[in-house]
Amino acid sequence: MTLAINPAALAEAAAGPTRYRMLIDGAFVDGAEGREGSRVSPGHGVEVSRYAFGTRVDVDRAVAAARRAFDTGPWPRLKAAERSAVLLRAADIIDRRREEIARLDVIESGKPISQALGEIAGAADIWRYAAALCRTLHGESYANLGDDMLGVVLREPIGVVALITPWNFPFLIIAQKLPFALAAGCTAVVKPSEMTSASTVVLGEILMEAGLPNGAVNILLGTGPDVGAHMTAHPGVDMVSFTGSTRVGQATMQAAAPTLKKVAIELGGKNAQVVFRDADLEAAVDAAVFGAFFNAGECCNAGSRVILQEGLEAEFLAAFEVRARNVVVGDPLDPRTKVGAIITPDHLRQIHAAVASAEAAGARLFADGRGIGASAGQYMGPTVIAGVKPEMPVARDEIFGPVLSVLSFRTAEEAAQLLNGTDYGLSAGVWSRDIDTCMNLARAARTGTVWVNTFMDGYPELPFGGAKQSGLGRELGKAAVEDYTETKTIQFHAGPRTGWWATPATVD
Ligand code: NDP
Repeated sequence: MTLAINPAALAEAAAGPTRYRMLIDGAFVDGAEGREGSRVSPGHGVEVSRYAFGTRVDVDRAVAAARRAFDTGPWPRLKAAERSAVLLRAADIIDRRREEIARLDVIESGKPISQALGEIAGAADIWRYAAALCRTLHGESYANLGDDMLGVVLREPIGVVALITPWNFPFLIIAQKLPFALAAGCTAVVKPSEMTSASTVVLGEILMEAGLPNGAVNILLGTGPDVGAHMTAHPGVDMVSFTGSTRVGQATMQAAAPTLKKVAIELGGKNAQVVFRDADLEAAVDAAVFGAFFNAGECCNAGSRVILQEGLEAEFLAAFEVRARNVVVGDPLDPRTKVGAIITPDHLRQIHAAVASAEAAGARLFADGRGIGASAGQYMGPTVIAGVKPEMPVARDEIFGPVLSVLSFRTAEEAAQLLNGTDYGLSAGVWSRDIDTCMNLARAARTGTVWVNTFMDGYPELPFGGAKQSGLGRELGKAAVEDYTETKTIQFHAGPRTGWWATPATVD
C-alpha cells in the first residue's frame, strides 16, 4: 500500500524552510562558528527548517549568561507572585500561538496535527500548574528544639540548570521541566533535539514577550555531542535534567560526575498492559491499540507489550484487528490522521529490523505495517507480533515504533514476573474487574506509574518518572518545583551560650 501525501499539505510544509536562531542573553543569535543545521519533514520529505547551530563556544556564552542572570540578575530575587505572573503570561501566549506551535511540531516530528494541538494545550496547562506551585513553594521551621533555638529550612533555587530534550514530544517535554525550574527561581540553558528545535525557539520568543529577564532562559541549537555533552559537563551548570535514550542518559551521569551536579533523567520503557480474563475486553482492546500506536509508538510510555491471561488471545486479537485496521495512518497535517510519519528513514529501518528479528526468533507476525510506502516521507502501519516469549529481544528491548508484542500468562504471579521482566520500569497497565487483582498487581509492578483500567492518562498534578533503568527522579506533581531547589538549614540561637570548654570533662 502506498500513501498519497496530500499535495496541498505538502506545499504548506514546503513553504519554508524557516530559519531559527539561538537565544542567548535575551538576543536571537547565530552560532559563533557559523555552523548550520536543517530538518527535512518526516511526513513530506521536504526541508522545512534551517537552524543556526551552536558549538562549545556558544555553550560557554549561554552558561555565562544564565550564571549572571542567576548570581546577580533579578529572576531568583523576584517575589513568587511576580515570577508566577510571568509563567501565567507565557501560558496565555502559548494558547494564543497554539496552532502555529502545533504545526511546527507536526512538520518537524511527523506527529498528527489533532494530537499536537492537544499537546500544546496540555503544555499551557502545565505552565499554569507550575505558576501555582511557584506561589506555594516553602521550607520548614522547627520551634521544638528548645526555647533558645529556632531551626529554619529554606528552599533555595539550585542555580543554573541544563535542560536537554528529545524529538518525540518537543513542546510538551520542555513544559515538564522549564516552568518548574523557573518557578523555583533557577535560570536555564535549554537544548532541544537537533531535529525538532523550532517550537522551542518559539518558546524563547514567548518567554521574552512574557517579561522574562535577559539570560534567565537561553536556548542552544545543535547536536548532542557538540552542545549537549558540553552542557552536562560544564562547571557553571548546577543541575542537568535530561530526557532521551538510555545510552545518552548514562553518558549524562558520567559527564555530570566530575562536578557532582544533580541529575534528573527520564529514559525509555518497555511498558506492559496486563489483561485478565474478567476485564472489560472492549475497553482493554481499545487501550491496547491506543497504547501501542499513539505517536506511532515513538513514546517512552508506549504500551509496547500486552500480556494476556491464557485463553484470551484469539478473542483479543480478533477485536484488536478490527480496531487497528481503522487506525488512520497518513499525512500528519490531515486532521483525520491518527498515526503520522516515522522520525527518520534510519529509525524506520531500525524498527523494520526489530520486526524481522522477532520473526526470525520464531514469533508470529499477526499484523505487518512494514508494507506501507508513501509518495513522500516515511511511514509504518500498526504491527502486532504474537506468540512472543519472554526471552526474545522483542519482549525486552524498546523499539520506539508502532509495534506491539503479545505475550501470555497463567497466574497473577507469572503476570507480575513478566511485567517486571525487563530492565525498564516506566509504566504499566492492569485490566481486571476484580479490585484485589488490580491492587496486587499495581503493588507488585516495579514502575513509576500504574494505570488501572485505563492507560496513558496524564495530569500535571501526578508525578511522572521511571523505576529501574527508566530514569532517576520525577517530573510534574507537587514536588516538581522542589526538584529544582536545594535546602539550606539555618539555626537561630537566642540567649547566653555555654561554651563546651567551660564544662569540666567527666570520665567514668
Ligand atoms: P537521544 O538520547 O539521542 O537524544 C536526546 C537529547 O540528547 C537530544 O537533544 C540529543 O541531541 C541529546 N544528546 C545526544 N547525545 C548527547 C550527549 N552526548 N550529551 C548530551 N546530550 C546529548 O535520544 P533521541 O532523541 O534520539 O531518542 C532516541 C531514543 O531515546 C528513543 O529511541 C527512546 O528509546 C528514547 N527516548 C525516551 C524518551 C523518554 O521520554 N523517556 C523520550 C524520547 C526518546 P541531538 O539528538 O540533537 O544530537
